[in-house]
Amino acid sequence: MGELFVLVGGESASLPVYKKPRRKRIFPFCPVVVCMSVMGGGFYISKVVGVAGIVLGAGAVATIIALAVVYSEEVAKNNEVISPTNEGSTVKPTLTTTEGSSVSTPEGSSVSTPLLPTAQPSNEPWDKYRLPDTLKPDHYNLTLWPRLKVNEQGLYIFTGETYVVFQCVKETDLILIHSNKLNYTKWEGGQLAKLTALGNITAPTIKSSWLQETTQYLVMQLNGNLTVGELYQLDTKFVGELANDLGGFYRSEYEEDGIEKVVATTQMQPTDARKAFPCFDEPAMKAVFHITLLHPVGTIALSNGMERDPVPVTMEGPEGTVEVLKTSFSETKRMSTYLLAFIVSDYDYVNETTNDVLIRIYARKKAITDKQGEYALNITGPILKFFEEYYNVSYPLPKSDQIALPDFNAGAMENWGLITYRETALLYDPEMSSNSNKERIATIIAHELAHMWFGNLVTLNWWNDLWLNEGFASYVEYLGANDAEPDWNIKDLIVLNDVHRVFAIDALASSHPLSSEEQAIQKPEQISELFDAISYSKGASVLRMLSDFLSEATFSKGVSTYLKAFSYNNTVYSDLWDHLDLAANSSGVSLPTGFNVNSIMNRWVLQMGFPVITIDTANGHFSQEHFLLDPASRPDVPESEFKYEWIVPIRWMKTGKEQSLTWLKTRTANMTDMKVIENEWVLANLNVSGYYRVNYDVPNWERLLNVLNTTPESIPVINRAQLIDDAFNLARAKYIDTILALRTTKYLKTEKEYMPWESALNNLDFFYLMFDRSEVFGYMQAYLKIQVEELFGHFKNITDNWTKVPSGHMDQYNQVNAIRVACSTGIDECLNLTKGWYKQWMNDPTKNPIHPNLRTTVYCSAISAGGEAEWEFGWNQFNASTIATEADKLRYALACTKQPWLLNKYLEYSLNPTKIRKQDATSTIVYIASNVVGQPLAWDFIRDRWQYIFEQYGGGSFSFSNLINGVTKRFSTEFELQQLKDFQAEHNDFGSGNLAIQQSIERTSANIRWVAENKKKVLEWFDGEVPKP
Ligand SMILES: [Zn+2]
Repeated sequence: MGELFVLVGGESASLPVYKKPRRKRIFPFCPVVVCMSVMGGGFYISKVVGVAGIVLGAGAVATIIALAVVYSEEVAKNNEVISPTNEGSTVKPTLTTTEGSSVSTPEGSSVSTPLLPTAQPSNEPWDKYRLPDTLKPDHYNLTLWPRLKVNEQGLYIFTGETYVVFQCVKETDLILIHSNKLNYTKWEGGQLAKLTALGNITAPTIKSSWLQETTQYLVMQLNGNLTVGELYQLDTKFVGELANDLGGFYRSEYEEDGIEKVVATTQMQPTDARKAFPCFDEPAMKAVFHITLLHPVGTIALSNGMERDPVPVTMEGPEGTVEVLKTSFSETKRMSTYLLAFIVSDYDYVNETTNDVLIRIYARKKAITDKQGEYALNITGPILKFFEEYYNVSYPLPKSDQIALPDFNAGAMENWGLITYRETALLYDPEMSSNSNKERIATIIAHELAHMWFGNLVTLNWWNDLWLNEGFASYVEYLGANDAEPDWNIKDLIVLNDVHRVFAIDALASSHPLSSEEQAIQKPEQISELFDAISYSKGASVLRMLSDFLSEATFSKGVSTYLKAFSYNNTVYSDLWDHLDLAANSSGVSLPTGFNVNSIMNRWVLQMGFPVITIDTANGHFSQEHFLLDPASRPDVPESEFKYEWIVPIRWMKTGKEQSLTWLKTRTANMTDMKVIENEWVLANLNVSGYYRVNYDVPNWERLLNVLNTTPESIPVINRAQLIDDAFNLARAKYIDTILALRTTKYLKTEKEYMPWESALNNLDFFYLMFDRSEVFGYMQAYLKIQVEELFGHFKNITDNWTKVPSGHMDQYNQVNAIRVACSTGIDECLNLTKGWYKQWMNDPTKNPIHPNLRTTVYCSAISAGGEAEWEFGWNQFNASTIATEADKLRYALACTKQPWLLNKYLEYSLNPTKIRKQDATSTIVYIASNVVGQPLAWDFIRDRWQYIFEQYGGGSFSFSNLINGVTKRFSTEFELQQLKDFQAEHNDFGSGNLAIQQSIERTSANIRWVAENKKKVLEWFDGEVPKP
């Protein structure tokens, strides 16, 4: 599944008032609101009453059970909670800040909740979540007919007819096949399916058949055993709801030229293919699929295989006689069910053919007319070619379709040959899209195309190895995007976007290892939980480290032989290690004596966390220790068979000169080369290619600070960002003094590069949270104002007084930082600039003069500095906006005002679904709480409305814990702690926010301690850094 960067404003505080929404990777295929409410709602088509006749397919008369009124009401009730709308195409910060299975922690980062225990209600095979090993599918024949109009009961439905041919591999008198929320037509004898044998034998008759709801099976007990080695055919006819629940076969709606339109589309991963048709829905149950779609005249049908010309057919249904089109598709390759896709729409497309592969980009007609598909089309061919060379395996399919959907839950989904995307992840509009929107499109396309081989051609056996599939794609997406956009230096950004980000989570005692036991992952919700930051970002980080110490050529060679050996089959993660070992041996790569890829990587994969390497340059002594952000949490860390020791590759330099790769294989070691004399210095983890932090003896830190202040260019730019991030985190974990960490920001006065600035601003967020209501704030602002002056001037120069866009991709990002910090620290020239632009826009709302790159920051700055007129204008633009990303930018910026009455009004709006979509409510409140003026208002507001908010948002939604964490993240006084405790005592149940309340109390206590220890010296240091008149 595709990762996604989105604008998120509420996750942590930042510079006062102007909090820059940060790009954040989201993982959830099935996050939060949707899954919780749908699964919790438990509406099934089995709750049916009415019966209607219908004809489906070549003369087969089927009795289709229609859906009852009771059921419609339940759906309506559920939809109220789910509420995906036409404009649901943007990622909702409510969802994204939660990272699926994650909740906010004291550090404002995320931590995964532990996996649910596996309950097995009984020993009956149909009460187990895994299929028995008795049957293997060979091929399926499937016809689906989605209705794009509501039926008499007010429901959208689809009907289907399918057979699967399977082989019996172990004697059994039981057939289990996955099925969820499907309602079956009964065959003669009253059974839900028909079984026939394909060979010269007779199939046993079905004794009984039923739907096992909890484990999602269609169960058939037979009067006799199936014969090993024989092929059987199982026929079914069924009906399902084409709901707007974003899972299985579902509908997406949008408006075009005043007309409501419906798209029927799919999202199968991980376990929703069974919601579209009965199937052996496990990744190792690969089969060939023959697919046919029936669809309205005037629409087109797409699937994994190439479509044949549609044929008009006449169908009989409850709706009467209908003329429809029948489109059948070339049979698929042998593939997993979770990679299937079926789509009916009236979309248009652009196309080209590169290396005999037909590449098509599908989207709403208007988006295609507006040429929003051009960018995706232009980069897909080169990226496919890049991966063909990287894998040394041809693209396995004759076509590559990519389609943008108005309602889509994940960022994108790598369906084989028909990749689905959120609109914002595929469509690029030069007028409205920022450079980060563009980067996201390039990286997501690369990510999904990488899966066409790694994941689709060769598939992991079971979901417990999901981290390898997603970690791999999350690593090579940077290589693919770099190939398409070589000027961006995008490969470096993995350090900020993945390594540093996941460090924050993986440094907690509550983290978890990359790899899970197969037995521990059984239920759909346990599978969904695996789509988290650890799987994606840590997976990417450790594979990047592996590729670095093997060399990229050796790594890709091992990947290539692995793909060739297991094409159309399944693997476990150690199969890849075996092939990498072979590649390492044949390329003569030397690994530390006694170790191979398997034994090195086990340390990184099977135990959670990562080490901090401490280098003492006085004696050449170096050592490793499990890095924990809170040293007091060490007793809570579970035991590890490797005792939290790692085999650590260390790339390092001495006084600017790169040294040869060194390995730390034990807890401590000595290397005389690391000893220095006089002004020599040591810097380790070059380019942050290793997944660890580095600490030094204080004299070496001093020498590194000296280099930053005098000749910063002798330290690679990634390592300048690393020194800042390591220092701040080492200080939080009490390895070094807080002032030493702050001193790493002094040289920023002359720094022009994005990565070090971004690293510093991310880390200073915490200082702003703790101090923006105290006297420290003024000193901190004065310091940062001095630091940013030169950067602001630099961008003024290179943009010709703000009239041009900087040419460099990273420069465009850092321009945003420069404006954000300059305006928030009160540089008049900056404030006049942003106010002026905004004023210009207010004077002519049809012409927005603000470049898309700068909009979030400029809107926020202008609304913050302005009053009612600026706010009302922003509010009107928000309501008028038809582009989801634009609306999100405004919704965020409206929380930047300093007027308490406007903030209170906005809080009221947040709970009014006619003003703020329900799914955006909690993130809007969190945005307001991120504003120092809005913080107490939001806290009062949620306490005052607690009952209502709890009833509406508390059920099972992770966004609810996000709300609690977001509103209380600034808490750092005894008074606030007491308020929190009173609040907890007053309401005994916080639903999905129970953990968040507890975490908020713990975080507040930790913040009180941190402030007590650091406030005085931090104030004195800032004071000392600001020149006195
Ligand atoms: Zn993926």
